Amino acid sequence: MGDRIVANKEQQELLKASWQDLAMIHHYDDQIISLGEFDGIPCLAVDVGNEQLSIDEYETISLRGVYLSDNFPLFQTVARAWQWILFRRTHRYCGQCGSAMQQVKWEMATQCFNCNHRCYPRVSPCIIVAIRKGNKILLAQGRAHRDRKMFSTLAGFVESGESLEQAVHREVFEEVGVKIKNLEYFGSQPWPFPHSLMMGYLAEHESGEIEVDGDEIIEAHWYEPSNLPIIPPKISIAGQLIEETLRLIAQQEN
Ligand SMILES: [Zn+2]
Repeated sequence: MGDRIVANKEQQELLKASWQDLAMIHHYDDQIISLGEFDGIPCLAVDVGNEQLSIDEYETISLRGVYLSDNFPLFQTVARAWQWILFRRTHRYCGQCGSAMQQVKWEMATQCFNCNHRCYPRVSPCIIVAIRKGNKILLAQGRAHRDRKMFSTLAGFVESGESLEQAVHREVFEEVGVKIKNLEYFGSQPWPFPHSLMMGYLAEHESGEIEVDGDEIIEAHWYEPSNLPIIPPKISIAGQLIEETLRLIAQQEN
């Protein structure tokens, strides 16, 4: 519904559809996407567009609300649904010839049957990196995190023609003006705000003093583990990178 998700008020569950509900959703026949299974139950996403559904027991929540509910498998399912819906909403016409695009039956793609141009859901690679220097970790406050007073690891989009490692070095230098070394791949996480794939790295400070760009990053400091600011939850890869860096710092101190 718009950019919100319909969920049960009491249990924060998604709308578990009965046959009655299904009779209602047949109006959205061409807006139904199969998502596979969740908890052993077939799972469908139904895009009702900007329609206002009023069903007593249900309310709507944001994708970020699902993320903060701490149910990671549910978040992943909803995140995939949201990205597919967003993809279909934004790929209705062919970017090459302007004809209407059609849904491909056997995979998540849209195709122009006039010129054969095909589109897939957007996935934007992003790097995210936790940097340590002795017993300290670099945490920065992005402009987007200012209201929540949160400090996090550095992150940025990979540019065309760039390797992940080049992107890490470039982003870190652009955002906080330091050089890093000993880059080590940590893991990845799809991040549906709106369609990123975060690829996480651990790194060590090599040289340079912190000098924030003042644009994306408004503040950054080296923090000792005993004196951390507000940091992201562990459900996010940023939270996991911070946790791992703190573990490495503790290990080197023993
Ligand atoms: Zn076309």
